[in-house]
Amino acid sequence: MNIEGSRWTPTSVYKLNYNGNNQFFIKREDLIPFSFGGNKARKAFLFFHEIDVGDYDTVVTYGSSSSNHCRVVANMAVSRGMQCVIISAEETSHPTCNSEMMRLFGAKIITCPVKIVAQTIEATLDELRCKGKRPYFIQGGGHGNLGTQAYVDCYTEIRDYEQRYHIYFDYIFHASGTGTTQAGLVCGQLIHQDERRIVGISIARKNPRGRQVVIDSIHEYLSDKEMDIPTDQIENVTEFVDTFTGDGYGHDSNEINETIRSMMTQYGIPLDSTYTGKAYTGMLKYIDQHGIQGKNILFIHTGGTPLFFDNLERGI
Ligand SMILES: *Cc1c(COP(=O)(O)O)cnc(C)c1O
Repeated sequence: MNIEGSRWTPTSVYKLNYNGNNQFFIKREDLIPFSFGGNKARKAFLFFHEIDVGDYDTVVTYGSSSSNHCRVVANMAVSRGMQCVIISAEETSHPTCNSEMMRLFGAKIITCPVKIVAQTIEATLDELRCKGKRPYFIQGGGHGNLGTQAYVDCYTEIRDYEQRYHIYFDYIFHASGTGTTQAGLVCGQLIHQDERRIVGISIARKNPRGRQVVIDSIHEYLSDKEMDIPTDQIENVTEFVDTFTGDGYGHDSNEINETIRSMMTQYGIPLDSTYTGKAYTGMLKYIDQHGIQGKNILFIHTGGTPLFFDNLERGI
C-alpha cells in the first residue's frame, strides 16, 4: 500500500521561544510524510484519492520549474505507475531541486511561452484523449474545491489541537499564493464561527485581485457545500496582505535571508525565500506594525523544503 493510502496523524505544532510579548507556534505542514510534504501534498492526497477511485491513467497539471505542486504530483503519479505531464512556461523553467525531482520521477515536461499555457493544456488533454488515454487534470497549485477542502481539514486539526492543549490562537499567519490554502482556512473559520484573524501574506499577487481570488474560492466552496454565509461576513474575515511581496514571485531580500538563517540556526526549521521565509518575515513586520501584543500566534509552515536547498546553493 502506498503511504498515502493511510491518513497521516495531524501535523505537529511547536512552540518557539521568543522574548517578546507574543507566544509563537508553528504548524509543520512541511512534515507531511510524502515527498517533502507541504500544502501541495495535503491537497494532492485529495486529488489522488479522486484519481484512485476514478478511471484515469494520466495526470496533467502545470507550474514552473520551482513548483512544489508539480514535484508532489509527479511523485504521487510515479508511485502509482501513472504517467504525469507537466506544462511549464519557458520563462520560468530554469533548473531547480524541484525540477530535478520532476525529471527523476519521469514526468513529461512540455514547455511553451507563458501566453499559450492555457492553449497548450487544452491541446495536450485533447491529444491524450485521441490516443485513448484517460487524463485527470489538476489546476496549478492544486487550486479548486478539493484544494480548499484540504485546508478546511487542516483548520479542523488546528481546532482539535486547541481543545486538547487548552490554547486559543488569536492569529493564524501563512504564505498565500493562489489563495486556496487561505480559502480553506477561512471556510473552516466561517463554518465554526470562530473569532480570530487569519492573515494571508501574499508572496506575489497584489490587491484587489489577490484577495478577490481568495473570496471567489470561498464562495465556490461554500456554494458547493450548500452553505449560506453572508458575503459581508466573508469579506470581513478575508485578510490578504500584499505589502510584503518585495520584488515579486521568487525574489529574496536581505531581510528574508536573515529570517531563513535565523530560523534554521535557532530551531532547525528550513524556510525558503519564495514562500515561507517571505511570509514569516512579513508576519513579524505585520505584528510590529499593528502593535500586536500578548497574543497566541500560529504560523503555518506550508512546506517547500526543496526551495530551501536552492537558496542554500545560491547563498543565503
Ligand atoms: C504553493 C505554496 C504556498 C501557497 O499556497 P496557495 O494555496 O497557492 O495559496 C505557500 N507555501 C508553499 C511552500 C507553497 O508551495
